[in-house]
Amino acid sequence: MKILVTGGAGFIGSHLVDRLMESGHEVICVDNLYTGRKSNNAQWSDHPNFQFIEHDVVDPIMIDNIDQIYHLACPASPVHYQSDPIQTAKTNFLGTLNMLELAKHSQARILLASTSEVYGDPLIHPQVESYWGNVNCTGIRSCYDEGKRIAETITFDYHRQSGIEVRVARIFNTHGERMLENDGRVVSNFVVQALKGIPLTIYGDGSQTRSFCYVSDLVEGLMRLMNGSYMGPVNLGNPGEYTILQLAQTIQNMIDPNTEIIFKPLPQDDPQRRQPDISQAKSHLGWEPTVQLKEGLSKTIAYFRDRISASAASHNISESTE
Ligand code: NAD
Ligand code: UDP
Repeated sequence: MKILVTGGAGFIGSHLVDRLMESGHEVICVDNLYTGRKSNNAQWSDHPNFQFIEHDVVDPIMIDNIDQIYHLACPASPVHYQSDPIQTAKTNFLGTLNMLELAKHSQARILLASTSEVYGDPLIHPQVESYWGNVNCTGIRSCYDEGKRIAETITFDYHRQSGIEVRVARIFNTHGERMLENDGRVVSNFVVQALKGIPLTIYGDGSQTRSFCYVSDLVEGLMRLMNGSYMGPVNLGNPGEYTILQLAQTIQNMIDPNTEIIFKPLPQDDPQRRQPDISQAKSHLGWEPTVQLKEGLSKTIAYFRDRISASAASHNISESTE
């Protein structure tokens, strides 16, 4: 198949590109490199089945004869999506609109990477897909939360009005190799801090919870959703729920028990509890995560350990040649 992956140079997108390329598909990656890196697709850059197009999905694009579109383009870390909130809102609304138009033009099936953030600070626990959410529409997270909500809305409207085939995944917190060192999300922050021997920064008192999925499980779920008959929306995440303090202590113990933990102010509208109910994914996709927290963390830690020691080595080389 000819498959378009928007955001394919980013963290999750690049792992998806790997799986699609390994399966023998023709893959086109569209990315504006805002939080993505060309090096994430480096192993495919000379492959005849791979094409990279540097493009902002806020602007329309036409590509012929596409079979499937995985629409992932959007910064996912609060630090990055809040640094240019208007661009984030445009990416979610106009970017999704443009990809839906492209799907209509090509008669392609489109999968929207939505988020657990559509539930906001949820009043139902664990979160089920039938819950409509508790989102502040004027807060600092709204460009992303409300952006993804309107993205879901127009996705279902294109299905109803134009008959295109759609799939909607609500992705919960995911981690793994290729997250950015300065990504700003909690797993990468804690891992990088512990590896550098600086204090782990807990926002608030650490009693808020999240559920962490390892990236290979997530990508498997996305592909099953795309290639099955269930439209969604469907939660994709690992139901193991941990407080942020528990996460900090787990990473501290895995890297260096002597690392300090410090407490900083809780950001505005930070959700208190989050855990996916994955009954729909189990029954419709036959999917559930296979990698548990510590196993996934050990892979994420190994990745950052390599990156940090490689950048330290190159720093030492440049210092010794100066
Ligand atoms: P990421 O920031 O690593 O990747 C996003 C990619 O999209 C980057 O390569 C970036 O350069 C690209 N991009 C951003 N804006 C763009 C634009 N306007 N035009 C073209 N490209 C653009 O994030 P990620 O963690 O890989 O997330 C991928 C998708 O999954 C996002 O849509 C995100 O909302 C969703 N999601 C992720 C998580 C998670 O925990 N990682 C959770 C929920 C939802
Ligand atoms: N968090 C934290 N320290 C950090 C980064 C994040 O305590 O260095 C907290 C953050 O306040 C939130 C949780 O960890 O309660 C998850 O944050 P993240 O940005 O990873 O994802 P999201 O809030 O979007 O789920």
